[in-house]
Amino acid sequence: MGTIVCQTCNSTIDHFEDEKVTRLYSKCKSGECEQPKDDLE
Ligand SMILES: [Zn+2]
Repeated sequence: MGTIVCQTCNSTIDHFEDEKVTRLYSKCKSGECEQPKDDLE
């Protein structure tokens, strides 16, 4: 299964069917993005 994650906050946005485990980077919808608080500096 593939996963789409936000390149800004690294949260999972959506999933899609794929033969392999795949990770694609996208962005949250405007206003829905939560900035990482205590992740990486
Ligand atoms: Zn985001």
